[in-house]
Amino acid sequence: MTVRGHHYRDGSKSRFLTTSRDGRPALIAHVRCTRCPAVGDVNLRVLMAPDQIDKKFTQRGWRLDPALCPGCAAPKPKDPLMGASPSPAAIRGQTETLKLLAQHFDGENGRYVTGWSDATIAKAAGISTETVAAFRIAGFGEIKEPAEVALLRSDINSLEALQRDHASAMSTEIAALRGRLVDLSKVAA
Ligand SMILES: [Zn+2]
Repeated sequence: MTVRGHHYRDGSKSRFLTTSRDGRPALIAHVRCTRCPAVGDVNLRVLMAPDQIDKKFTQRGWRLDPALCPGCAAPKPKDPLMGASPSPAAIRGQTETLKLLAQHFDGENGRYVTGWSDATIAKAAGISTETVAAFRIAGFGEIKEPAEVALLRSDINSLEALQRDHASAMSTEIAALRGRLVDLSKVAA
């Protein structure tokens, strides 16, 4: 019969004993996790065989050789992104968002071209404004232009468009009046 070492008594293989708790004599077996600072303890009345002490730890969720606390021994939860695959609609929305961002967001200057914003892209792509903002920040960058400036720029652009419309309406009106003038001249002649 081979005499096996008592790892708890010997303090080997991540196992050890202590002989007091709160200043009172006690016999406590410990296992130290090899992956994190956790140390487990089991109160013993007498020094049992190492196998029996091991069993008390494994019953509490520990693994041994190598020693792992219940937290480190538990299987890791799956990567949430690898779980349920996104719906085709979600993928289309995200693809559309990236396309619109590339077309309408000036990443270098950190601003949208006139008429576009996270909200307008969200509406066009059918996804939330928050998601668009997250995509923009991750792929294209932050909005650097203060909201005030962006608003002013948009006002100027609207007024310019209005001015162009008015000018064109005016030209049409003038052309119509010229036409009437020609007609009246003919009648008077
Ligand atoms: Zn651990």
